Amino acid sequence: MILTAATGAAGPEGDTPPPKGEPRVMDPGPPPSDAIVLFDGNDLSQWRCDNGGGPAKWEVKDGVATVNGTGGISTKESFGDCQLHIEWATPAEVQGEGQGRGNSGVFLSSRYEIQVLDSYDNKTYFDGQAGAIYKQHAPLVNASRKPGEWQVYDVIYHAPRFDGAGKLLRPGIVTVLQNGILIQDHVEILGPTANPNPKYEPHPLKQPLALQDHGNPVRYRNIWIREL
Ligand code: MG
Repeated sequence: MILTAATGAAGPEGDTPPPKGEPRVMDPGPPPSDAIVLFDGNDLSQWRCDNGGGPAKWEVKDGVATVNGTGGISTKESFGDCQLHIEWATPAEVQGEGQGRGNSGVFLSSRYEIQVLDSYDNKTYFDGQAGAIYKQHAPLVNASRKPGEWQVYDVIYHAPRFDGAGKLLRPGIVTVLQNGILIQDHVEILGPTANPNPKYEPHPLKQPLALQDHGNPVRYRNIWIREL
């Protein structure tokens, strides 16, 4: 975008508004004052169970929600472009190996998975370890903490855009920090991550956020989202 010095207005090819106005004042928190808190440790009232759509049934205790085999959970509300903060921990007692050790996942738009896995001294395929965009992009580094320790994903997500005929106009783009370390740098999502040959299927801009139940007792806390 080219800004004209006199007016600050966008040039002819600009598609963003001119930089006028004072930034809105907010309380950075945490959680930020303009965030939607999706889990504050008390209950999963903002979530539903992916098996049948009833109330989410993961165990909630001591401020933590634990995957318990009842199925994945999805937010009742839908989101498009967003900033997401989510804290998770794999079991302190190590069981299983590879993809069977502390597996869960954060699904943007219900279909694009950021892998959650115990990737501390646990070999698996690179694009399936913690912080991978599953089977699409390995993380830049392995910034995993030890089993049982709390970890953080901070995510900036721009959802894909489709035209009225369902044609892809722009792929989804995601940036992820794990424990404050950049692990995905503005990468292009290739399509739904469950598909080994990902191909976009059109969907509405706003979709629920989903968390995976992969049968491992992964814990979650402090989940909030800011719509962008
Ligand atoms: Mg997973």
